[in-house]
Amino acid sequence: MSKGRLMVVDDESILRMDIKEMLQEAGYEVVAEANNGETAIELAARHRPDLIVMDVKMPKMNGLKAARIIYRSFDIPTILLTAHTEEELIAEAKEAHIFGYLVKPITEKDLIPAVEVAIGQSRHVKSLLGNIKEMEKKMEIRKRVEKAKGILMDVYQLNEERAYQTMRTYCMNTRKTMGEVAEYVLKNRALDIHSLL
Ligand SMILES: [Mg+2]
Repeated sequence: MSKGRLMVVDDESILRMDIKEMLQEAGYEVVAEANNGETAIELAARHRPDLIVMDVKMPKMNGLKAARIIYRSFDIPTILLTAHTEEELIAEAKEAHIFGYLVKPITEKDLIPAVEVAIGQSRHVKSLLGNIKEMEKKMEIRKRVEKAKGILMDVYQLNEERAYQTMRTYCMNTRKTMGEVAEYVLKNRALDIHSLL
C-alpha cells in the first residue's frame, strides 16, 4: 500500500520528474502531473490526491491561486515550491490550505519530511472536521427528537417521560431510529401509538 497519493505540478518537466522519483522512492504514489495551475485543478478533480506538491510560478495560472481553488473545491492541501522568498508570498502561504513551503532547489531531505507532515496534518484536520460534523448532526437530531416529544405531549396529553418512552418503544417495534420517528412526528403531528399506550 502506498503512503499517500500525490500530484506533482511544475512547469519545469525535469524538476517534476525529479520530485516524482523522490516521492516514489519514499513510498508515495504519484497519481497525476501537471505543468500549470489550470490543468492542476482539472486533474485534482479527477484523481483526488491526498496532497499536491506545486510550483508557484507557472504559466496560465500560478500555484497560489490554483492551491486556493483546489482546497475550496476538493479539500486537498498543497505544499508550495518556489524560488522566491518574498515576504508577501510567505504571508499568503500561511493560508489554511498551504501545508508546507519549500524553497528551490528541492532536496529529498526537505521534501519527504514536509510531505509526511503535511499528509499527517491533513488527515488530522479531516478527522477533526468529521467529528465536528458528526456532533452537529447528533445535536440536530436531539433537537428534532425534543420537538417531536413536545408534539406527542400536546397531541396525546402525555407527560414528558411517557412521550419519550412511547417514541423509544415505537422505534424498537418498527426498527426505526429516534431521528426517523421524530421526523415522522414532525411531519404528521401524529404517531400510531394507541397500540403502545
Ligand atoms: Mg515555475
